[in-house]
Amino acid sequence: MTSMHDSPRIPVESAAPRMEALARLPVFFALHGKRVLVAGGSAAAAWKVELLAAAGADVEVYAGEMSEDMLAVAAAAPPAGSVKLHHEHWTAGVLDGCALAIGAFETDAEARQFQGAAQVAGVPSNVVDKPDYCDFSFGAIVNRSPLVVAISTDGAAPVFAQAIRSRIEAMLPAGFARWAEAARNWRSALKQTDLSFNGRRLFWQLFTRAALQNPNGEPSRADFDALLDETKPQAGAADQGSVTLVGAGPGDPELLTLRAVRALQSADVILYDDLVSKEVLDFARREARRMLVGKTGHGPSCKQSEINALMVGLARSGRRVVRLKGGDPMIFGRAGEEIDACRQAGIAFEVVPGVTAAQGAAGRLGLSLTHRSAARRVQYVTGHGEKGALPDDIDWRSIADPGATTVVYMPKKTLRQFTDRALAAGLDPATPALAIANATRPDEEVVAASIGALADAVLPDGPTIVMIGSVCGAATNPVHSRASGNPESGSPLSRGRADRDSARIR
Ligand code: SAH
Repeated sequence: MTSMHDSPRIPVESAAPRMEALARLPVFFALHGKRVLVAGGSAAAAWKVELLAAAGADVEVYAGEMSEDMLAVAAAAPPAGSVKLHHEHWTAGVLDGCALAIGAFETDAEARQFQGAAQVAGVPSNVVDKPDYCDFSFGAIVNRSPLVVAISTDGAAPVFAQAIRSRIEAMLPAGFARWAEAARNWRSALKQTDLSFNGRRLFWQLFTRAALQNPNGEPSRADFDALLDETKPQAGAADQGSVTLVGAGPGDPELLTLRAVRALQSADVILYDDLVSKEVLDFARREARRMLVGKTGHGPSCKQSEINALMVGLARSGRRVVRLKGGDPMIFGRAGEEIDACRQAGIAFEVVPGVTAAQGAAGRLGLSLTHRSAARRVQYVTGHGEKGALPDDIDWRSIADPGATTVVYMPKKTLRQFTDRALAAGLDPATPALAIANATRPDEEVVAASIGALADAVLPDGPTIVMIGSVCGAATNPVHSRASGNPESGSPLSRGRADRDSARIR
């Protein structure tokens, strides 16, 4: 008979998250050498003329009357494109061959007529400040050309959009324009090298690092050569792919490291465990393939050998594989076996540490795992040995040590056996203990009891650790982080007597 634990599970590929509803589609029009009509001669129209000419358009302005601003814009030589004033009212004929048509009118009737004519001519149109007569809108712009950022609130909050624009302005150094321009100039030179696709991608990663490190620098041919020299020796490895073992932390995505986020954002494939929270997976690059390879401790899971083979196979075919594991990969995460598999296959690997469940829980509970006088030692043990039973080689005298804090991972199935053995080895049954489920997640729950009573307590669902030691008596209700959306002030943990000496804290 096959138990649940042994039944095989094949890796399941999960779909990338679907695109949420989009209020507007941002598109970036190439206007160089294209005719654009502006109907109206007001100051508002003049600003649009300036914008369109800056984007390279040949702007034709039609208006019976031209404002001072319009005359000034036409008189100044634009940085690109051209401006031509026609001192007459627009007609349907002038729409012919225009890429875009912009109108600035007082009345709705004029606006309606303009939009109608543009539609007949098949030209997308916009009437300034009359959203009902627009096929498209202009966003708030941050200009680091060729790098351009545009912001829209779908007309809901233009002032808000402007405020966001200022923030992005402050975030993007002016020198990014030079880097983006350099990228444009270097693109074809890079294509002429013998670098493969992955090698060129590596070049652009190094380029990005250089731009971020020296945003106001003046990228030159020497920088191009230096980046190329740096890329070439690593390009072979880039072709071979790699494995990055990434700690996803206990659940709260704010506990991810910066390096973990970077790895998730450059992954081609992510092999993840059940324990990884959805919020963490949301940090992954949209195009990355996501594959659930299981490993909950109970229930069906992929065989470790299959996970190893899949991981190595994907890396061999040139993929950047992220092996994403709950908590820290090096704590009860079978990282050792996966690292061995990479070493044997000659695959480059890297490990990104994560916050382990014990650390996450300790942080939430305001509980120091060590204490200068009362807890000089911390030990992590598993309640779940290789065959699912309590491991038979636990050093029970260490567990009974009153000066130790013990954290039991995967404690649930063997908790009574565990406590019986520990008490038999001399652990004081009055020692404070905690069972913490879903630590750092919105559904976090804590049960407090003496270790003598914990096995009788009803433990919550979800991944759980048990902490034993005098420090557990000092646990407080945590101050909920805003991430969990449940602001609550810290208060001392109360220890219930009624429920068989255990207290469910949350
Ligand atoms: N590498 C992980 C541990 C993997 S073993 C880490 O460093 O945390 C799986 C066990 O970890 C679970 O059975 C449970 O005991 C514990 N665990 C993982 N996440 C947890 C969480 N958010 N809350 C409580 N326990 C958790």
